[in-house]
Amino acid sequence: MSGARESESDILIVGAGNAALTAALAARERGCTVTVLEKAPEALRGGNTRFTGGVFRFTYDGVEDLLPIVGDKDDASDVVVDPYPEAAFERDLQRVTGGRSDPLLACVLIERSYPTVRWMAELGVGFEFSRAVTGMRIAGTNLTKLQPGVAIRAHHEGIGLSQNLFDLARKHGVELLYERQVGHILSDQSGRVAGVEARGPDGIERHHGQALIVAAGGFQANPEMRTAYLGGPWGLVKARGSRFNTGEVTRAMLALGAQSYGDWSGRHATPIDADAPVYGDLRLTDKTNRLSYPYGILVNLDGERFVDEGADFNSYTYAAYGAAILQQRNATAFEIFDSRAFPLLEKRYETGSPVEAANFEDLVAGIARRYPVLGLNPAAMLQTIAGYNRAADRSDGFKPDALDGKRTNGLRPEKTNWAIPIETPPYRAYAVTGGITFTFGGVRVSADAEVLDGVDRPIPGLFATGEVMGGLFFTNYPLGTGLTRGAVFGKLAGERAAALVKSGGR
Ligand SMILES: Cc1cc2nc3c(=O)[nH]c(=O)nc-3n(C[C@H](O)[C@H](O)[C@H](O)COP(=O)(O)OP(=O)(O)OC[C@H]3O[C@@H](n4cnc5c(N)ncnc54)[C@H](O)[C@@H]3O)c2cc1C
Repeated sequence: MSGARESESDILIVGAGNAALTAALAARERGCTVTVLEKAPEALRGGNTRFTGGVFRFTYDGVEDLLPIVGDKDDASDVVVDPYPEAAFERDLQRVTGGRSDPLLACVLIERSYPTVRWMAELGVGFEFSRAVTGMRIAGTNLTKLQPGVAIRAHHEGIGLSQNLFDLARKHGVELLYERQVGHILSDQSGRVAGVEARGPDGIERHHGQALIVAAGGFQANPEMRTAYLGGPWGLVKARGSRFNTGEVTRAMLALGAQSYGDWSGRHATPIDADAPVYGDLRLTDKTNRLSYPYGILVNLDGERFVDEGADFNSYTYAAYGAAILQQRNATAFEIFDSRAFPLLEKRYETGSPVEAANFEDLVAGIARRYPVLGLNPAAMLQTIAGYNRAADRSDGFKPDALDGKRTNGLRPEKTNWAIPIETPPYRAYAVTGGITFTFGGVRVSADAEVLDGVDRPIPGLFATGEVMGGLFFTNYPLGTGLTRGAVFGKLAGERAAALVKSGGR
């Protein structure tokens, strides 16, 4: 129906990422007609979801809970899996968000995390063990220990997840319309949502439905909204994912009376290759991430360390350290490693081109040559490396797969785990910047994914899921929770919207 100016279906969904397509599949399971309106052209469809590492955080008691999810796509003989109970998920979520995560939404997310991923697997979404991103080789064995809670990722990561979801959507009869930029939500006299207005390939279109599910992502690709809500250096930041998530549908929901909720100055940002493009590149997806800093040091252009690289496992610090790098002069820093750390670097480092040298003087001179306009202070960088090595822990017991407590003594900031000396040449420096992943502020939803107005009443017919929701993430975020959130509230939104349609709107 390309070029149509009007359409009618039971349920309209805005966006075509993981949140949107899980909602579409849940609604189709209940027999509703579903139209998905996606802003991007077909070749660039799939939102941030397509750029992800495909990691899902969810609860499980042990490997036996994971086997039905990976199915025959993978074999568990080389993985070590610790249980991840609900209490651990809750503790991790509240710990990294400073205890601010909405307890009701958190409870829905956590309780439904396992059944939702299991449902996706049963529908036909492929999953595998997440060895490459969240696994750590156990020394002297061929076993890989998977970080609790993030043991699974989508087969072929975000690219595979997105393709899988689109294939399933087509198979189950979801109508997919591309190049539809939704900017306005239509409602009737009673305040009930009745459809949307979109800029289509041939002009303004109106799409009608009995329920609307918004899954249009955050506003991280909109420099104006970034500057307004995040402030400071965020106007110029590189976005790691889709360039189409620009927040206009969130604005349309707010204009309709939706309650704004959550951390509107908060965002997820990670250390990425300083040479990465301004928006995500589908050939690189998440491979620009540079997250192995716990095994080295992070130094800015003024030669200063500015974070505790070993504060925790990188999955609990990476989302905050992207912001910390962005605050540095020219939004740039350098991750410095020695050859003992090279085998510990994530595979994603292979897409980078580090400066490498046999001694620190040549390393620092090489950085200054590679980045001549950034204004490096070479003497200060050399001094910081030497100072770190003096303060490092020279005792035995370095354990890359555990918080080993090997810390510096007398530095500001201290490095509190994995702080062994950097003194085995050759040395490498990877230039990094902060790349924004998604924003945390959004609209308030109920435990049934209904969008609430300013006095906590559901706006009839309006549901939201994924990055457009506020209230779960504040300041920081535990790896793998974005996809789970989108799927949990997507499935819920699809089910509840379908129930609304079946009940004739009551
Ligand atoms: C590089 C990278 C790696 C990541 N890795 C992970 C990971 O491994 N695990 C994890 O949990 N999370 C990860 N994330 C975060 C993750 O992307 C999200 O939490 C999740 O994919 C968001 O899904 P979503 O459906 O809400 O949004 P999206 O997938 O971004 O979908 C939003 C959709 O809305 C569309 N849209 C926007 N505006 C409009 C409009 N006006 N009209 C119509 N359509 C519109 C967009 O085109 C897009 O298709 C990663 C993100 C990035 C960028």
